[in-house]
Amino acid sequence: MDEHGTCGHHGHAHGRDGHGPARTADLVARAERLAQDLGLQFTALRRRTLEVVAEEGRPLGAYDIAERLSAPGKRVAAVSVYRALDFLTEHGLVHRIASRNAFVPCEHGHGAGESAVFLICRSCGSVDETISAEIERSLDRTLAQAGFKPASRIVEIEGECGACQGRGECGRLEPR
Ligand SMILES: [Zn+2]
Ligand SMILES: [Zn+2]
Repeated sequence: MDEHGTCGHHGHAHGRDGHGPARTADLVARAERLAQDLGLQFTALRRRTLEVVAEEGRPLGAYDIAERLSAPGKRVAAVSVYRALDFLTEHGLVHRIASRNAFVPCEHGHGAGESAVFLICRSCGSVDETISAEIERSLDRTLAQAGFKPASRIVEIEGECGACQGRGECGRLEPR
């Protein structure tokens, strides 16, 4: 008998894979290359902010990030975190989820002008980032028709992720 029951879930709070040290290291490496190429500084605060966002399994607000970066006797101000986040979002390492006013690590190495579609789960709070050439094309068309010049092209869709739909009753507290 499997101690996790029949469901097969292992208490992975964010309900999907791809989080953790490996991805964090990838993102940090990407940030370092990018900063070097652009001749910009990848400061300790920028790095630590990126690490905190990358390791979290759900969108994090700037105040939560500041909280995590603060140590007893050494507080990190949210305004400093916002500046670090400006750098990270500007360079596509982190995205801001407007409907949550929170930040997630970028799952792809896409260009700055490219659109992203975020699938936000209301049940577990996970955010999946996808890119769709089809959505991109029709968004381009729609924007051109409207004569609208977008500052960002981020689509946010709320709902229930595949893991939560499959979980049904077995992912909740086990009934006895
Ligand atoms: Zn992205
Ligand atoms: Zn979910």
